[in-house]
Amino acid sequence: MTLSSSASPDVLVLGGGLVGSAVAYGLAREGARVTVLDEDDGGFRASRGNFGLVWIQGKGYGLSPYARWSRSSAVRWPGFADALLAETGIDVALRQPGGFHFCFNEAELADREKRLSTLNAELGDYPYQMLDAAEVRERIAQVGPAVIGASYTPMDGHVNPLKLLRGLHAAMQTRGVRLVPGERAERIVPDANGFTVHARRGTYRAARVVLAAGLGNRALAPFVGLNAPVAPNRGQVLVTERVAPFLHYPTLNVRQTDEGSVQFGDSMEEVGLNDFTTTHVLSDIARRGVRAFPMLKDVRLVRMWAALRVYSPDGFPIYDRSQTHPGAFVVTCHSGVTLAAAHALRVAPWISGAPMPDELPSFSARRFENAAELTPAH
Ligand SMILES: Cc1cc2nc3c(=O)[nH]c(=O)nc-3n(C[C@H](O)[C@H](O)[C@H](O)COP(=O)(O)OP(=O)(O)OC[C@H]3O[C@@H](n4cnc5c(N)ncnc54)[C@H](O)[C@@H]3O)c2cc1C
Repeated sequence: MTLSSSASPDVLVLGGGLVGSAVAYGLAREGARVTVLDEDDGGFRASRGNFGLVWIQGKGYGLSPYARWSRSSAVRWPGFADALLAETGIDVALRQPGGFHFCFNEAELADREKRLSTLNAELGDYPYQMLDAAEVRERIAQVGPAVIGASYTPMDGHVNPLKLLRGLHAAMQTRGVRLVPGERAERIVPDANGFTVHARRGTYRAARVVLAAGLGNRALAPFVGLNAPVAPNRGQVLVTERVAPFLHYPTLNVRQTDEGSVQFGDSMEEVGLNDFTTTHVLSDIARRGVRAFPMLKDVRLVRMWAALRVYSPDGFPIYDRSQTHPGAFVVTCHSGVTLAAAHALRVAPWISGAPMPDELPSFSARRFENAAELTPAH
């Protein structure tokens, strides 16, 4: 075991996915010395298998601070993407033209209207439109006859999520963050001056520790008086060969990437720690995509994968500071692309000592205490 005491960082971030990297980059912007420990390729990593949406519409139904929080990230995204480009030369291909949620029957349309009108009533300024089939086709000519309408908001967008992860890794390291790959944190020992993290290959110390290990947070949180009852939710995704640009807007289930390929997504399945693909789910996803865009029926699929979302019992994020060990924080969510700007530009300053952002008190895991019905045991 080695102890990195001479060069102890101010903050240890456990997990180097989108959440940990965005927080580490933000902490470095605040002037903190940061070390990130990231498990090896055998770990589960939503950040390498997601759909790339910076998505706002419908989010926060049932918990409006989540709508405000998501929007606060979306509005910061252009500056955030510009900073990554300036600092690393990596263009994460952010586009925010607004997004469509296609509906295939009246019940889906009614549900969309209900969600978005409720959010509008709760938040005030919440721009959205319900469109009939003709109005959808005016904006996206290739949509098939099975689409009977859509909701649209100008708030939505998308990025290239792999370029985002690479950009964050490059940006944080350019700012002096030490990334230790292949290093799984196994135990955290708090003391009066901070935390000792015992990892597979070494031992690390810092005054503050941030749990950003995705599904790994569940096991780490109790060491520092926190609670992170996250569980896996599998999503399967398909991607096609590259085709000429035809889809200039992201939609919830189909989007054309900056490189020309078309992604079809994505299932939501509670199957435990299983990130295998299954033919019947993939064929449903492909069928729905072709119903939306019949012109894609002969386009070749080139890859498919599954990845595990990091889900809390109510689906909303968990942001907490430990009451018993106040230098310990947990940051976890299931929209780490959408929220990357907020994690870097709002959560990191809070961890550095700034006041907690207004929206965050709603996301303490204390909401799960005495809420047994919300807590499936995975
Ligand atoms: C199919 C699918 C589609 C999605 N689509 C979108 C989308 O369109 N938009 C959006 O905003 N979000 C989307 N998401 C969610 C998004 O990908 C996740 O919110 C995000 O990747 C979570 O990042 P994370 O860093 O918390 O977790 P992860 O990506 O799982 O990363 C956790 C990291 O911690 C490491 N780790 C785990 N345990 C330890 C340990 N003990 N010590 C050290 N390191 C550890 C892991 O190796 C990993 O690198 C999607 C997810 C899936 C699966």
